[in-house]
Amino acid sequence: MPNKKIVHVDMDHTLCDFSTSYSKYKKNYPEVEYPHSVPGFFSGLAPMLNAIEVYQWLDNQDNVDLYILTAPSVRNPSSYTEKRLWVEKYLGIDAAYKLIINPNKGLTLGHYLIDDYIEGKGQENFEGQILQFGSSEYPDWKSIRKYFELELND
Ligand SMILES: [Mg+2]
Repeated sequence: MPNKKIVHVDMDHTLCDFSTSYSKYKKNYPEVEYPHSVPGFFSGLAPMLNAIEVYQWLDNQDNVDLYILTAPSVRNPSSYTEKRLWVEKYLGIDAAYKLIINPNKGLTLGHYLIDDYIEGKGQENFEGQILQFGSSEYPDWKSIRKYFELELND
């Protein structure tokens, strides 16, 4: 049994395309101040390009223990349920068992965190390495896969 690397993946702006839905709500319902507080917002997000494929690829690596690590939208109580429903819909029920909803990501142990933010929800205290999704180094899921292809075969 190889030593497994614990990898956490963020949801909003990383697995889930938050921005496109947010802009659509703003355009279609300008009177809604906080689209992400509307029931159905989180379950209705589309996956980011290649997110599902690369998540599944990572999940199939023998030396990876993969989790989803997301902060809740606390003022939208349905976000907790909708995030869970989204995970099952796009990644399957096994992934739902790996869903961690945590407002302070720095309290979670792990080797890697793939997240579009490097601070704000405890990321700054995460003890492993952060791959900032959407940065020039890791602009998309293909670049994340490339990184792990090299990293996991060392
Ligand atoms: Mg995010």
